[in-house]
Amino acid sequence: MMYGNILEMFSSIQGEGLLVGCRQVFVRLAGCNLRCRYCDTPGSQTDQQSCRIETAPGSRNFQTLAGPLSAAAAAGHITSLSAVRPHSISFTGGEPLLQTAFLKELLQRVQTLPVGKYLETNGTLTDNLAEVISLLDMIGMDIKLPSVSQMTCWAEHRDFLRVARQKSLFVKVVVSAATVVEECIMAAELIREVDQAIPLILQPVTPSNPREKGPDPAWMLRLQAQLLRYLTDVRVIPQTHKFMGQL
Ligand code: SF4
Repeated sequence: MMYGNILEMFSSIQGEGLLVGCRQVFVRLAGCNLRCRYCDTPGSQTDQQSCRIETAPGSRNFQTLAGPLSAAAAAGHITSLSAVRPHSISFTGGEPLLQTAFLKELLQRVQTLPVGKYLETNGTLTDNLAEVISLLDMIGMDIKLPSVSQMTCWAEHRDFLRVARQKSLFVKVVVSAATVVEECIMAAELIREVDQAIPLILQPVTPSNPREKGPDPAWMLRLQAQLLRYLTDVRVIPQTHKFMGQL
């Protein structure tokens, strides 16, 4: 039996990406191999000693359990939180693929639940993805732009895309006032190498303080138009859960 570091589990509305608006069970795994400057879940970057679990779907009442959690216990909580007929289970983080063996057992244990199994990932750990991809239905992966995240992962993203395309896949790119257009074009070219029909979501960064600036609206329109020369489906979707007051 595998044990895993889970930060929290709850039922909510997906606020970003292609599944925006869908009811999901969120399983947020702790730990991340990256350190993005704009990270909105800093608690998920490190291992946690405890895990908070919603007691009933959407109740916002949480119990705190000591971590790590066994895959059997986590699967039991996922089943309880699936009582309101969610569209899918979102395995998110942090970076869920850092705990591959635990994630694999957990996915096996919830395989028979009649809901989608969706992975939200930073798109850098290709070998780990290969170990669990047969158990997933959908993947939302990031491409990190150096001008926004202060990291360079082009080679990792290229490898990851080639494996992830086996499943329903979309790519998310966070853009800010500091975003360099040429980097967005590089991201679009990377996706086009694999399949120009893979949806690309441009997500304007959510300012974490009044001094931080999101991208200019007119610039967003021009950027979307430019990228539509490379890809057939380019959408602009902000983090809707932030202005809805959802988790
Ligand atoms: S990959 Fe995600 S969880 Fe990890 S540091 Fe970046 S934004 Fe945060």
